[in-house]
Amino acid sequence: MGVALVTGGSRGIGAATVRLLAARGEAVALSYLRDADAADALVAEIRAVGGRALAQRADVAAEADVLALFGRVDAELGPLDALVNNAGIVAPQGRLDAMDPERIARVFAVNTVGAFLCAREAVRRMSTRHGGVGGAIVNVSSAAARLGSPGEFIDYAASKGALDTLTVGLAQEVAGEGIRVNAVRPGLIDTEIHASAGEAGRVARLAQQVPIRRGGAPDEVAEAIVWLLSAEASYTTGALLDVAGGR
Ligand code: NAP
Repeated sequence: MGVALVTGGSRGIGAATVRLLAARGEAVALSYLRDADAADALVAEIRAVGGRALAQRADVAAEADVLALFGRVDAELGPLDALVNNAGIVAPQGRLDAMDPERIARVFAVNTVGAFLCAREAVRRMSTRHGGVGGAIVNVSSAAARLGSPGEFIDYAASKGALDTLTVGLAQEVAGEGIRVNAVRPGLIDTEIHASAGEAGRVARLAQQVPIRRGGAPDEVAEAIVWLLSAEASYTTGALLDVAGGR
């Protein structure tokens, strides 16, 4: 079985992905930023049933943190063959004409630069060009990349648009080196991220606008991520898979 790293794997979609990967026998590393209790509890849950897992505090936007994270995975779990670039943030809802530069820069630093740094470290390990044996990367983008999020968080939507472009370009760059790169674009998923944007009830408010008439569960996104990582998706690369209830 392989070794997977899920950034922001302590809560929400990341935690659901960690659980599913562990259930399939993968050794899983998860990173987080603030909530050590949630991260430690998930690692304990996996170890309690005989799985291999570790958690490390690491801001994906800080290169030194990213290097330390990947170094620990190398040392404690072994050669990495799956990366999920899941860590992501939104800032409080608002219009562009009220946004300050620090907010915009932080959203792009975490959602976009963080994914670039982690993808770089993964390619340095997985690529046959660097002596690796291949692997798979899934970027957790958003339907916001298509929708633009007017009046809510255009900065977030644009940071996810950049992640889609990373997916398309990197997929072609490393396709001949044993690495597949894909993205999922979740729609309205029931996690705590909406509270961090200032509206805990956002999924309920918008659910009727979704063709499927409900918000999604983190598990429903995790299933798509794990499929894209798996050997069953061996001919799929550069894909942007909407998991958005038709929205
Ligand atoms: P969430 O419940 O807010 O969880 C976010 C996770 O990311 C937490 O584990 C958090 O750790 C971690 N994190 C935050 N900033 C980080 C940083 N700088 N470095 C490392 N880890 C960091 O979010 P979610 O809803 O599951 O979202 C996961 C991904 O799906 C994000 O990329 C998000 O943009 C995307 N997405 C979500 C939705 C949705 O409706 N929920 C829709 C489309 C796309 P701490 O707990 O320690 O802070």
